Amino acid sequence: MTDTPDRPAHAPHARAPQTQLAHTGRGQDAHYGFVNVPPFRGSTTLYRSFDALLAGDAPYKYGRRGTPTSQALEGAICALEQGADTVLVPSGLAAVAGALLAFLDSGDHALIADSVYGPTRSVCEDELRRFGISVTYYDPLLQPHDVLALATERTRILYCESPGSQTFEMQDIPALADLARQRGILTMVDNTWASPLYCKPIALGADVSIQAGTKYIVGHADAMLGAVTANAACADRLRARIQGMGLCAGSEETYLGMRGMRTLAVRLAQHHASAVQIARWLQARPEVDRVMFPALEDDPGYALWQRDMSGASGLFAVVLKSHDRAHVAAFCDSLTLFGMGFSWGSYESLIVPFFPGKLRTASPWPRPGQNDGFCLRLHIGLEAPEDLIADMDAAFSTSGLHHAATT
Ligand SMILES: *Cc1c(COP(=O)(O)O)cnc(C)c1O
Repeated sequence: MTDTPDRPAHAPHARAPQTQLAHTGRGQDAHYGFVNVPPFRGSTTLYRSFDALLAGDAPYKYGRRGTPTSQALEGAICALEQGADTVLVPSGLAAVAGALLAFLDSGDHALIADSVYGPTRSVCEDELRRFGISVTYYDPLLQPHDVLALATERTRILYCESPGSQTFEMQDIPALADLARQRGILTMVDNTWASPLYCKPIALGADVSIQAGTKYIVGHADAMLGAVTANAACADRLRARIQGMGLCAGSEETYLGMRGMRTLAVRLAQHHASAVQIARWLQARPEVDRVMFPALEDDPGYALWQRDMSGASGLFAVVLKSHDRAHVAAFCDSLTLFGMGFSWGSYESLIVPFFPGKLRTASPWPRPGQNDGFCLRLHIGLEAPEDLIADMDAAFSTSGLHHAATT
């Protein structure tokens, strides 16, 4: 879906993403000059006549099938993703499930990265399997040829998340998508971590890009939203199947998503800079075994991150040296600026413990030669990084982690 500007653009050169984000999808002449497209609330739209109704001749046919609000946000996300069409859904997980169900038929097989978001795995186990769709999880560190070697005659989807949830392994999307296409397999990428601002999976060769809009697009922890974007070959089936399943996003959530888009570029630049600063500080701490964050020069995924993404988000993880649950609990409980809770991508900092060995089935954890201390996932919010560092510094001391690591 393309944006229809009110005035002709006289751009002498391609405009920067932050400029596009400030101007895309406004169409102010259609709503009395107000800067923003309001949240159109509606089910019924009225047709001008009997004939118009029977011909389906109306700009908007029914609330579930789109409103000016949803069209504005779909157009803005689609432009950033460099896709052919974007469809909004009520949550990130609905985007995952909707995308998979849109393109898989009974009897099909899917290859799924072992590092996917946990509930994505539940979609595979609890939903796909019920329809006779089989799934193989693959180690995200496998070479692309070895991933595709796991494909069968019935493999229809290769599903990637790069970097992976929790453990942040980068995958070679262009190589994977290229090999998959040669075998007639569609590549889907969960692009939530980088957001469509920093990574364009479709331009890298993937067919479908999935976005938990709940995270950086909404950006303020006040709404659930998802988006699926497809290339030209997959766009019609995507829209037909998603709408066929009755999936559509609420008007208020859609409005909040559009509002978040306006500041996405400045927020992400700050998340990126603060996260790198804090990750480096953590790397030098005696309590920390390693940091998993592809934006760090010594991360195994750094070269792919640099090649395929133009920035990083504020989400990364650390492996502590400690196995002492009481010490780790005291550390988390004594932080004053990091909340404990799920989701991420909003303006505030968060911390959660996680246990990678519990979820993965195809890739060992810890990796051979690595330690398996406590894992913590951090989301670095928009607070001043010095304050976040001071908060963690104090928590390391009072928790006993510092004492244990230095004596
Ligand atoms: C959070 C998340 C989702 C699901 O998003 P919700 O809006 O919470 O349903 C999907 N994928 C990734 C990578 C996520 O982090």
